[in-house]
Amino acid sequence: MKNEYTIAVLPGDGIGPEVTGEAIKILKILESRLGLNLTLNEVPVGGAGYEATGHPLPEETLNTAKNADAVLLGAVGGPKWENIDFSLRPERALLGLRSSLGLYANLRPAKIFPALADASTLKREVIEGLDILVVRELTGGIYFGQPRGVETLPDGTRKGVNTLVYTEGEIERIARIAFEVAQKRDKKVMSVDKANVLECTGFWREIVTRTHKEYADVELQHMYVDNCAMQLVRNPKQFDVILTTNMFGDILSDEASMLTGSIGMLPSASVGGKTGMYEPIHGSAPDIAGRGMANPLATILSVGMMFKYSFDREEPNAWIETAVESVLNQGYRTPDIMSPGMKEVGTTEMGDLVAKEIEQ
Ligand code: NAD
Repeated sequence: MKNEYTIAVLPGDGIGPEVTGEAIKILKILESRLGLNLTLNEVPVGGAGYEATGHPLPEETLNTAKNADAVLLGAVGGPKWENIDFSLRPERALLGLRSSLGLYANLRPAKIFPALADASTLKREVIEGLDILVVRELTGGIYFGQPRGVETLPDGTRKGVNTLVYTEGEIERIARIAFEVAQKRDKKVMSVDKANVLECTGFWREIVTRTHKEYADVELQHMYVDNCAMQLVRNPKQFDVILTTNMFGDILSDEASMLTGSIGMLPSASVGGKTGMYEPIHGSAPDIAGRGMANPLATILSVGMMFKYSFDREEPNAWIETAVESVLNQGYRTPDIMSPGMKEVGTTEMGDLVAKEIEQ
């Protein structure tokens, strides 16, 4: 097995540098525990990229990402860049990275750590033991379809247009990812569409069903997106893998994430191309940036996903999950997941606690 890896580190803005700093601590521990040789290349992205070069995705950053074995990203954006031209906004860097790296599949686990079961707004019995993986198509659908825009009609009124498009190939490849990850889990895929209203997602259903024929060990069911949104809060434990389109996945994965209580706990992986990208699902949290109180666990758990999906190493991911669980069981909490009787810690202290557990 390969033991030399190059990782592009893109801390970004706001709390991005704070949480990636803690993830780097974990990478260094794994490097020594596994006898690896890791090269970490840190480059600016988002607002930091814009400040350094005038563009949120500088050429050097993109090249560093393309040449790496994996990318670790913090978060981008902030009030400072809210009024600049849309094409130069920090968030544009994410779309650029996803499309340049061919990252067509976004994997977002929503898993409950038992110690945090009370942090959810849902009743403990509804979410205890929850372990869902949302597989969202990331480079197609209505976010990319043409034509798009706002135009003025001959009568002087205006209309806005976006277009939902999926090709056979785009649907088939994301379906394969969902079936393959399901094979390593509970072997159940729920494909979510709006086939009763949108022809494009009726086509989605047809191609997913056809692709499924090659994965007889996985159970496939279909659900309309409105029902899925409702079932996620009614009985979320019925789901194992949820497979869906770009826009439905955007919305449903945020809903699924909140079942677990805190946005600061959830990692994500974007895969499909040669180089996968790993990042927390949260943004740059300008309201708490620079105060040492951000929860670094989502970013640390993203490092686990990197080892699992890009380096094909399950064990470090399990070490990280066990370490996080143990630290939470000992009662340590960052302010976002704090509850009475627990011990409040800051970003670096939380990172140190997890690092110490992995070192043991
Ligand atoms: P956000 O996720 O940054 O913050 C939402 C709320 O969650 C805030 O109250 C924040 O303090 C809290 N929060 C988020 N992460 C946390 C953590 N690790 N620990 C503790 N609390 C945490 O979303 P927002 O406020 O809507 O967006 C802020 C900026 O981030 C915007 O510029 C937005 O465009 C950008 N954004 C970037 C990404 C990304 O980089 N992938 C994703 C979403 C939003």
